[in-house]
Amino acid sequence: MFNESDRKDRCLNKYLSFSAAPGKEYVEVTKRMSESAFSGRLRSLKPGDRVLLKGPLGNCVFDERYRKISFLIGGIGITPVISILEYVAQRGLDNDIVLLYSNRTEEEIAFRKELDRIAALSGNIKVKYIVTDCEPRDRSCSMGRIDGPAVEKAVQDIRERVVFVFGPPGMVDAIKKICLEMGVPSGNLKTENFVGY
Ligand SMILES: Cc1cc2nc3c(=O)[nH]c(=O)nc-3n(C[C@H](O)[C@H](O)[C@H](O)COP(=O)(O)OP(=O)(O)OC[C@H]3O[C@@H](n4cnc5c(N)ncnc54)[C@H](O)[C@@H]3O)c2cc1C
Repeated sequence: MFNESDRKDRCLNKYLSFSAAPGKEYVEVTKRMSESAFSGRLRSLKPGDRVLLKGPLGNCVFDERYRKISFLIGGIGITPVISILEYVAQRGLDNDIVLLYSNRTEEEIAFRKELDRIAALSGNIKVKYIVTDCEPRDRSCSMGRIDGPAVEKAVQDIRERVVFVFGPPGMVDAIKKICLEMGVPSGNLKTENFVGY
């Protein structure tokens, strides 16, 4: 339960992205759980408890006028993407979207069922998985990191796309550099560092 002293406690205040499409009657966030005080407090919440939300903040948001989009995403950086993809699919928008989603293992892929469902229903949304740590069982998944050749293979026309990069800061910096080297205009690159991973 939230109380006034929690407001100033940095350990109990974290940035979280909305992970459900706008327009729902509830707000949803998704936290990758850890042993932190914040995660402990989340685990202890009961229905009816009060929490304090501040925001929304940030400017990495979907704009329907971006006709061709690519998401290059690591780990829990998927949270804003699932919200955007749900929105695009529910509204039947025809934006051409390719998601390349990196995790250590297939087991770590968050929202996999939802992503596969959206990709199967929408001809304009393609979802590709890549894992770093072990050979994938599934053919929809390749092995490796999001590096130049992996991006070139998954998104041949990356230079024509607005590219969103969300994930741990080290990964975001590396992918940003790769995209610039591949000729993506800097104005088309939109990044968000998920600090804490
Ligand atoms: C824009 C944005 C969106 C995010 N969205 C999500 C989301 O949807 N889901 C999700 O699970 N996580 C998200 N994060 C990350 C989240 O805010 C936490 O940092 C992360 O979940 C780790 O918190 P923790 O309590 O598990 O671990 P902690 O033990 O608190 O953090 C792990 C490490 O990260 C460091 N750290 C934590 N917060 C910060 C900070 N603000 N600045 C610098 N260092 C920090 C700590 O010092 C520690 O070393 C987002 C972060 C940002 C910036």
